[in-house]
Amino acid sequence: MSKSQDLYSRAQASIPGGVNSPVRAFNGVGGTPLFITHAEGAYTYDADGKKYIDYVGSWGPMILGHNHPEIKQAVHQAVERGLSYGAPTEAEIDMAEKVKELVPSIDSVRMVNSGTEATMSAIRLARGYTGRDKILKFEGCYHGHADSLLVKAGSGALTMGVPNSPGIPEDFAKHTLTVSFNNLDEVKAIFAEYPQDIACIIIEPVAGNMNCIPPKPGFLEGLREICDEHGSVLIFDEVMTGFRVALGGAQAYYNITPDLTCLGKVIGGGMPVGAFGGKQAIMDYIAPVGPVYQAGTLSGNPIAMAAGLKALQLLSEPGLHEQLEAKSKALCSGFQAAADKAGIALTTNYAGGMFGFFFTDAEQVSSYQQATKCDLERFKRFFHLMLEEGVYLAPSAFEAGFVCAAHGDEQIEATIAAAERAFAKL
Ligand code: PMP
Repeated sequence: MSKSQDLYSRAQASIPGGVNSPVRAFNGVGGTPLFITHAEGAYTYDADGKKYIDYVGSWGPMILGHNHPEIKQAVHQAVERGLSYGAPTEAEIDMAEKVKELVPSIDSVRMVNSGTEATMSAIRLARGYTGRDKILKFEGCYHGHADSLLVKAGSGALTMGVPNSPGIPEDFAKHTLTVSFNNLDEVKAIFAEYPQDIACIIIEPVAGNMNCIPPKPGFLEGLREICDEHGSVLIFDEVMTGFRVALGGAQAYYNITPDLTCLGKVIGGGMPVGAFGGKQAIMDYIAPVGPVYQAGTLSGNPIAMAAGLKALQLLSEPGLHEQLEAKSKALCSGFQAAADKAGIALTTNYAGGMFGFFFTDAEQVSSYQQATKCDLERFKRFFHLMLEEGVYLAPSAFEAGFVCAAHGDEQIEATIAAAERAFAKL
């Protein structure tokens, strides 16, 4: 028995499914999840001492590579001054100012402790601001596990086959309208049905929780117009895309200005952090200025702020995001060429530092329907072959992959060479 197998059976005796977040359990691919002991740069190391080139990157935050020395130092310095005070600190202002500088659509920003809290609070704010109950989301998009948002959700919910989760009263779920990603006609039709009732549209501007699906040209622009026309709030959930697709997020990459933005993952540099922010007039509705309540004992935690701020400072280095995109592109074209050579039907997508690959005959995947029709059995076998090769990909066909600053030519080339061998065995 491997050490990971041993730890997994021990974990299952005291943790639901042996994991503290479902998609870690390898349900989408079968087998034993790897228990990680440490990570450095582009690599993670498991309990059996095996080394992997890591494209999960803690599901996004590790955009600068694991255990970055400057982030570690910022954390060490903050720890010396105490772990939490529950009172304001200057670090929170530094963080807010940095976020505003990098994401100009944000006039004011509130820190929280996870992406879920960010989206849940942004939805409440949009409802409070508009006085409307209904929200519109897209099938296969995941916005965390708040009740209103676990309707036709992606990520682990999709991997486990429970996009509509039990435990959510029908009375809540009925206010969540869902339409197809990249289908503006469906959005228009639902607004025609409920012209004055929709508080907000919430969207992952690049969908990363049903694999990786960028918006079609004109789609995000169309959402902006529809929201303006109907007085609805446009929320970009940039928990994944923020500071990754471009320094200014997907809104900078596609040049669309949302009303509210949700942030997470990268913004914490590996610590549990989320944030939501946007137009002043809307943010003025949040407590203590406005009537919409939102709070958090540990929000703006000094250690988390130190890690996150250092990460954002390091990410601001000119050219870094262009390099990330070049790596995503190199991986995608390398996988494509290797699959073509082996006669395996494959197509890929990427945007900035995130990428996806689909086992399908389709030339391009741009919808939930296409993503869910891909060959999942082939994905599972490929995942395990790559794992044997020492490459750690997301353990689900419905998650985007992430490159980081520490992936160099050496790691990218080794990954493509591993993929060539894996495709040949499929
Ligand atoms: N929104 C998006 C787009 C996400 O990808 C995620 C997490 N993968 C969340 C929200 C929820 O974030 P968290 O897991 O930090 O609650």
